[in-house]
Amino acid sequence: MIFFDEILQMEFIQTKTILSKLKKSPEPWFGITYNMNLYRGCQHQCIYCDSRSKCYQIDDFSKIQVKENALYLLENEIKRKKQKGTIGTGSMNDPYMPLEKTSKMVRGALEIIAKNKYPVHIITKSNLVLRDIDLIKNISETYAAVSLTITTYDDELSKIIEPGAPTTSERFAALKELSDNGIYCGVLLMPVLPFINDTVENITNIIEKTALNGGKYIIGWMGMTLRDNQRDYYYKALDKYFPGISESYKSRYKEQYSVSVPDSLVLQNTFNSTCKKFNLPTKMEFFSESKPEQLSLF
Ligand code: SF4
Repeated sequence: MIFFDEILQMEFIQTKTILSKLKKSPEPWFGITYNMNLYRGCQHQCIYCDSRSKCYQIDDFSKIQVKENALYLLENEIKRKKQKGTIGTGSMNDPYMPLEKTSKMVRGALEIIAKNKYPVHIITKSNLVLRDIDLIKNISETYAAVSLTITTYDDELSKIIEPGAPTTSERFAALKELSDNGIYCGVLLMPVLPFINDTVENITNIIEKTALNGGKYIIGWMGMTLRDNQRDYYYKALDKYFPGISESYKSRYKEQYSVSVPDSLVLQNTFNSTCKKFNLPTKMEFFSESKPEQLSLF
């Protein structure tokens, strides 16, 4: 098992395509039509990361692969798309992992997206996104959304479960700066990990801080995924940082893939009522060719 304090390796690879169209588009949670992953593997090394699952065929998640020809492909593919749709980035790796500071792959991609007037939805745990505010503002004339994933209001806990990512406080500060710059932004409150961050206190604090820092929406899911390699890694991390908890998972969830926290109904009700209290939508507005689609709030 490799933890964050061990050295992560990096290599360049070539890829065949860079924009993959989702079967159901726009995808109903995040409004994404095309997925764009400029990297494979992720330096943030969250202990629960679903991208460690076998189906993604990443043999070594601690080795970061940079898709060297990605921008060349994007320039060509974006022109050939018949349907203009939101390009999403951040589902299989964090586009603003530390390596991005020097590689500037995301910045290059945003320049191409801006030039072609395509919409974009960036999902990240990093305040490095602030570097690209100028480009995101430009893309906002078409449509741009930035979602900060925040799973715990406790910085110390975030350092354990998301060891390579900026702390929660840094993410909320980034949210505020994005909002102050007029960028459509919000929070993804997921995953919620059984017996770890599944408390009313955690959920209400994150919602309150999202509202106070200018978030325009918050999307929550009171659960997590668990499968093969991902589950093995996660249980080892639990044994290291939260001794005894993995036994509760094993007896409760067995081989289940998508799992809800034990008090999911209570937490979901708390989530809904607290969002209502702060007038915070629980769905995002999506891009549409004519005007942004306004979804029902609750
Ligand atoms: S930031 Fe996202 S992709 Fe990266 S390790 Fe964490 S959960 Fe996985």
